Amino acid sequence: MEIHQRAILVDTHNDILSDELITHLDIGKRQATGNFDLVRAKQGGLDAQVFSIWCGEDYGKGRAFKFANREIDSLYALIKRYPNRITLVRNSAELETAVKQKKLAAMIGVEGGHMIEDRMDYIDSLYKRGMRYLTLTWNNSTSWASSARDETRKRTTLAHVGLTDYGKEIVHHLNDLGVMIDLSHPGEQTFYDVLATTTKPVIASHSCAYALNPVYRNLKDDQLKAIAKNGGVVFVNFYSGFVDSSYDRKLRVFLNKHRPELDSLTKVYHDGDLANIRLNAIYKTESDKIRPPLSLLIKHIDYIAKLIGVDHVGIGSDFDGAESYPLGMDDVRDYPKVTAELLKLGYTESDIDKILGGNFLRVLKANKGE
Ligand SMILES: [Zn+2]
Repeated sequence: MEIHQRAILVDTHNDILSDELITHLDIGKRQATGNFDLVRAKQGGLDAQVFSIWCGEDYGKGRAFKFANREIDSLYALIKRYPNRITLVRNSAELETAVKQKKLAAMIGVEGGHMIEDRMDYIDSLYKRGMRYLTLTWNNSTSWASSARDETRKRTTLAHVGLTDYGKEIVHHLNDLGVMIDLSHPGEQTFYDVLATTTKPVIASHSCAYALNPVYRNLKDDQLKAIAKNGGVVFVNFYSGFVDSSYDRKLRVFLNKHRPELDSLTKVYHDGDLANIRLNAIYKTESDKIRPPLSLLIKHIDYIAKLIGVDHVGIGSDFDGAESYPLGMDDVRDYPKVTAELLKLGYTESDIDKILGGNFLRVLKANKGE
């Protein structure tokens, strides 16, 4: 706990802001549901959180950028309400100042290139409001980059596979601004096209190892090695479905059993993911039975660290973005368990410093040209 409290802990992916717009939670107060609020973040020793700005693919041109800004508005409002507990940071110096002031350092990551609506000036505008990473695609492809889901499931019908010339211009522009490029959702072709184009280290803000669970959202060994070669970092996702290769099958049985309730919850929330999260909470005893053990999550961190080095792995929980996490990993109070498990595996204090936050700071600085 001492090591954990002293280290700077950064989580590169949390989806609470998009939930908050729907559920109108005040995450400054202790919440009975969900994985994140400022009270529990403090208890878990969290120093910096990158909040994901996200909307689904049904938000097209004319709507997606607006919605992204509404989410940023809600983060600004939260900061205004609790100025002594949370502050917006845009670079490593501001982050370190926030840590000294014992405030949560809030950063902005935009998850999905569709939110820039094919416009460079929208990138500039989001940058001015604090965006410090852009996930080039979400599950949906953009007109300039193909996603992992689409490259895997409908490759033959895609208008283009990989990064277009305009996509390359976008990568250069993000490099110039110092906005980190997030490759958690783009497909393999886009992934390698970006690595051939970028002049700065990239990140994968919330992905696991494909070798341990072969789903399209996880990164293959060659991709992991390519990220290390680029100087980038993979932040490990806590979602049960990415951690455990047997989870998806078990989840489908659970969902089928409760199909009518899931359908009505989806109507209430207008969001399938949020409905799934609520269903899991309602049937907690049952949904707990299909959660993987914590050791399997740690195995992903350990696997990546052993394959590409301890300088290239970190934490991107995806809290509040998924219905299930490994047993014992219930919310942001549980990060110290990661530290404890890594110590058990023989990781040194300096290794743990890097995994918890040091690697993020390095890549953030490198993107800013520091
Ligand atoms: Zn995601």
